[in-house]
Amino acid sequence: MNSECDIIMDLAGVYFDKTAAYETNAYINEHLKHCENCRNFYKQFSQYKSDKKINSGCEIPKWEGNYDEIAYRLKRRKRIMNLIGLAYGISMLSIVAWAIRKANQ
Ligand SMILES: [Zn+2]
Repeated sequence: MNSECDIIMDLAGVYFDKTAAYETNAYINEHLKHCENCRNFYKQFSQYKSDKKINSGCEIPKWEGNYDEIAYRLKRRKRIMNLIGLAYGISMLSIVAWAIRKANQ
C-alpha cells in the first residue's frame, strides 16, 4: 500500500457515485487495473454502499419543495425586513431629533 492507494480510497465515494471528474475516473480505473489491494477494497466498498442504498431506499432525498411557495416566502421575508429597517430608521431619527431638541434647551 502506498500513498497512491490512499488517494484511490479517498476517492472511492465519488467514483462509486459517478460524480468524479473524467480524469479522476480514468486515474482510478487505471490504478484498479494493476492494484489488487485497491480492487479488493473497492469491491468491499461498493458492496457496502449498495447494501446501504437498498436498505435506506435512496440516499439523496428527493426535492419536493414548491418553488412558488419559496418565492412567496422570500418576498414576504424581504418585505418584513424592509419594514423592520424602516421602523429602525424612524426610531433612530426620533432619538436624534430628541437629543438635538434636548441639547438646544
Ligand atoms: Zn492501490
